[in-house]
Amino acid sequence: MSNIKQINTEQNLRCECLVIGSGPGGLLTSKKLVEQGFNTILIEEGDFIKTSESEKYKNYQKINRLWRNGGITTSFGKTYILYAEGSGVGGGAEINSGIMQRVSSEVFSDWVKNNDIKNFSFADLDSCYDKVLKLISPTEPENHPSSNILSNSAENLGWKWEKLKIAYSATGTKRSISSLILDDMTTKGLQVFSNLNAQKIKYKNNKAYRVDCISMGKHKVTISFDHLFLAGGAIYSPFLLLKSGIKKAVGKTLQFHPTVKVGALFDHKINSKPAIVPSVAITEFMPNVRIGGSVFTKGFFGMFLSEDWKKRSWLFNLSEYCGIYYAMIKPTGRAKIFKLPFLSDPVIFVSLTKHDKALLQVALNKLTQAMFAGGAKFVYPPIYNHDGWKEYKDEIFDNFKNLNLTTIHIFSSLPMGENDFCPVNSSGKLKHLDNVMVCDASIIPSAPVTNPQAIIMALVERNMDLFLKNISPQPKNAQLKN
Ligand SMILES: Cc1cc2nc3c(=O)[nH]c(=O)nc-3n(C[C@H](O)[C@H](O)[C@H](O)COP(=O)(O)OP(=O)(O)OC[C@H]3O[C@@H](n4cnc5c(N)ncnc54)[C@H](O)[C@@H]3O)c2cc1C
Repeated sequence: MSNIKQINTEQNLRCECLVIGSGPGGLLTSKKLVEQGFNTILIEEGDFIKTSESEKYKNYQKINRLWRNGGITTSFGKTYILYAEGSGVGGGAEINSGIMQRVSSEVFSDWVKNNDIKNFSFADLDSCYDKVLKLISPTEPENHPSSNILSNSAENLGWKWEKLKIAYSATGTKRSISSLILDDMTTKGLQVFSNLNAQKIKYKNNKAYRVDCISMGKHKVTISFDHLFLAGGAIYSPFLLLKSGIKKAVGKTLQFHPTVKVGALFDHKINSKPAIVPSVAITEFMPNVRIGGSVFTKGFFGMFLSEDWKKRSWLFNLSEYCGIYYAMIKPTGRAKIFKLPFLSDPVIFVSLTKHDKALLQVALNKLTQAMFAGGAKFVYPPIYNHDGWKEYKDEIFDNFKNLNLTTIHIFSSLPMGENDFCPVNSSGKLKHLDNVMVCDASIIPSAPVTNPQAIIMALVERNMDLFLKNISPQPKNAQLKN
């Protein structure tokens, strides 16, 4: 049974390895450390809900406990993007749809070239994917009406499409990564604390030695360590560095997958089995645009309709006949993360380039075309005060102020590579400090246009193997084994 603890007194702890953040990056990092015999502590600022007890909670209760800011945070800038993040044991992986995808060799080559990443081949990455996918064992779900919309439309239009693998068992139960890793690792000695927020990294002579934390919002806890692993996600890892006074190249290159969503009405029921995501993607326009389907529940559909309730509310009673589909783009624009005085949360400024805006227009156009080719009778675009379409029109919108952009994919705020704009080196080590590795979505060099979880885990798998190979002296348990 997972043994996740909370600390409710002032304490000073010590370990060999401290991992901050329990998303897919932090969990895999902890697993690899514990398996090598390192005395490891994993801390998570969010709450913990056991997967086996998840059904006990209503959706809004889970959203309050496991999603950051109740599910939606906004960025600033000329065009704003609403984004969602997980914040609980398991991080984003606990609440996500579990779609597992590999990045293409084309995108990987750009990463290596643009960031000057040393000693990393596509074959290396591929073998790391194999290990990650073996751990998660995603399955290809059976054909489902909501998935068929996408495959049928792609066939009708002569576009390429593919079936997606998702981290669900054949019976439709989520293969939660926290339950796959934590039960086993806590038995092997991993100490996990939830509701424990890392506030500041202390360092001297290029070496981090302590992290000051607050437990359950009030108790001071310090943790000293030999090695530190940052896995707070693409916004909060750089934010912690900024709060600790580590600034050079930090948080200046954040990227999202800006996403446009449409609500579409069909003449047959397409949501017989809600909450599992459509498992087909239209890949015709990759690597610039990818089209797919969103998780559909009445609640999520209500949220889409409420963006313009006056116009769209009539669809609510027809929700069984509706789906939410999306197109996400590979942006060239970068966002910046700021630590502003007197604010405890990071502030994100997004800037979309001309190229990004043009791509978003194409993305919405192709997505709408796909909906009608898949049999849609009515489509609402994510544009405020829009009357919707009864048929496909080759129409290009230009009012970005009324466009509702969202995303659930965030990365590249501490990209890896040898170039100056990369604060993390080619093996995942923070350049500013000798004993700090970054093990989360921050290190992805740039937007992959594929779902990021498997990519994060494959990069962590590779970087942690290099760390473990080079580490000296050997951890106590490993020495004992010799
Ligand atoms: C709704 C949704 C659906 C998604 N669907 C998919 C999908 O189908 N496939 C896919 O590949 N990806 C999907 N994603 C994206 C994917 O979940 C994320 O890319 C991934 O979880 C990022 O992993 P990470 O390890 O970088 O960090 P995260 O998962 O963000 O985890 C970081 C954790 O660190 C904690 N933390 C942060 N700062 C601190 C601190 N100072 N002290 C202590 N703890 C801290 C946070 O609370 C959080 O729990 C989805 C995301 C969302 C939100």
